[in-house]
Amino acid sequence: MIRCLRISTTMFAKKSIPGTILFKRYFDRCLSNIPELTKNRYPVNRGDYAILNDNHVQFFKNLLDNRIITDPDECESYNIDWIKNVRGYSTCVLKPKTTEEVSKILAFCNENRIAVCPQGGNTGLVGGSVPVFDEVILNTSLMRTIYNINGTSGVLICQAGCVLEDLDNALAEHGLMMPLDLGAKGLCHIGGNVATNAGGLRLLRYGNLHGSVLGVEAVKADGQIIDLLSALKKDNTGFHLKHLFIGSEGVLGIITKVAIQCPPKPLAINLAFLGLPSFKHVLKVLKQAKRDLGEILASCELIDQSTMRVSTENLKLRLPFPEEYPFYMLIESHGSNTVHDEEKLTVFLEEIMKNELILNGILAKAPSTIRKIWELRERLTEGFVLDGYVFKYDISLPIENFYSLVPVMQERLSGLKDVIRVSGYGHLGDGNIHFQVSCREFSQEILQKIEPFVYEYTSKLRGSISAEHGIGFRKPKYVHYSKSPESIVIMKQLKTLFDPKGILNPYKVLPP
Ligand SMILES: Cc1cc2nc3c(=O)[nH]c(=O)nc-3n(C[C@H](O)[C@H](O)[C@H](O)COP(=O)(O)OP(=O)(O)OC[C@H]3O[C@@H](n4cnc5c(N)ncnc54)[C@H](O)[C@@H]3O)c2cc1C
Repeated sequence: MIRCLRISTTMFAKKSIPGTILFKRYFDRCLSNIPELTKNRYPVNRGDYAILNDNHVQFFKNLLDNRIITDPDECESYNIDWIKNVRGYSTCVLKPKTTEEVSKILAFCNENRIAVCPQGGNTGLVGGSVPVFDEVILNTSLMRTIYNINGTSGVLICQAGCVLEDLDNALAEHGLMMPLDLGAKGLCHIGGNVATNAGGLRLLRYGNLHGSVLGVEAVKADGQIIDLLSALKKDNTGFHLKHLFIGSEGVLGIITKVAIQCPPKPLAINLAFLGLPSFKHVLKVLKQAKRDLGEILASCELIDQSTMRVSTENLKLRLPFPEEYPFYMLIESHGSNTVHDEEKLTVFLEEIMKNELILNGILAKAPSTIRKIWELRERLTEGFVLDGYVFKYDISLPIENFYSLVPVMQERLSGLKDVIRVSGYGHLGDGNIHFQVSCREFSQEILQKIEPFVYEYTSKLRGSISAEHGIGFRKPKYVHYSKSPESIVIMKQLKTLFDPKGILNPYKVLPP
């Protein structure tokens, strides 16, 4: 029975807290959660790279005018990934400001066989953004110039270290917005987004970065600068080399500039937050939303009950209604005409209520209410880390099987007392589920119960073992579950072509 559907504009009157402050609080709370060194936890051998000496450090100091960190305590946060899964022990963090500086750093490292770990906002979830051993960290946080925003074409050109949320704010002044939006927007850099081909919450409507990135500038391992910074929508002059850098996770080159097509900021935004009894009902609501909302459907996210408790219990966030339900959906519409959108939403909501597909729901219109509801979804990654340790998987599955992995794994892990929760949430509209197993601390026993089973399961259903987070350090040996042997050979050949000495982000992406 449908309990109610409220139109809410005032429910969460409290002002939303900016992303950067939330992230800072998260880091402070998690300081005790320092993971074991990667080299001790995983079977991996250091490559034949140079050990950093005083002459190397002096070269970097001279080049960067002391924009370098060598104090081991100060280096610590650059060595640990956001979800506290992996930890390197680099004693050198470099902060270039220009492409020329990046080029000189790489040319020097290539000549001296010094391994380099490219790092943006360090919010990556597969261990790609921190060193495995003592690789020099090349961090892009000082490369944050916005060169141009063209209000007519919608093209933004900027440096790779610009923070996603800052870009969104700058674009808003021109009536535009970024085509992508992630929970990590307060920290992640556009260069990191492009390097991971990040998906996020609006991909359903605005497509992925292979579509919206018009051009990149990148630096190869030997220091050569490759200018692919086209700002054109159409350009069929030979191979589209920019695509090689989109999703290459720092193993082919360092992205230094980006040109990106940005859509107009929608004039009308509405968010429906729904409670549902089963996954069968979820699929019916998805189908109805696609049919009734059409081009204004911008996001369609799913959260199961166990995951939602991460927000309500670990993060103490409030649900818009007091009752709990097996599943929750967030459905956002973006349009240019409030009346037109409201008509469509009314048809959609009446239809799903008439067919008793939902148990409860609210429709939010006020920006502050919408932000508060999105917090329940966007802060989940942070909430899971507060359980202790989280095994996190990012999988694409055919839509009918979107949730099937969760009950299978719940059964498989049922006897293990250290497991806190086995749950799923994610980008339902894109067929991309985030599957989690959380526990107090890292456990080999739990890991072996999950892997490679989770990848075999995904492969049997012809899914992808990485929908949007990438391969990083955690998944290279499982790439074959989603890529043919022939394509892996070509990937390795490209790596050799771009980085013959293998100095860029070693131990990541490519299978050993
Ligand atoms: C709360 C939270 C929510 C998230 N939500 C999403 C989501 O919805 N969708 C999604 O896809 N991801 C999501 N992520 C993962 C992560 O935010 C994205 O992968 C993001 O794009 C990483 O950007 P970054 O600047 O932090 O890159 P980093 O984490 O610093 O680096 C990621 C990878 O890119 C490489 N890299 C970074 N910068 C460059 C560069 N300039 N040139 C070459 N290589 C580079 C690194 O070596 C590394 O391999 C989320 C993470 C968190 C913590």
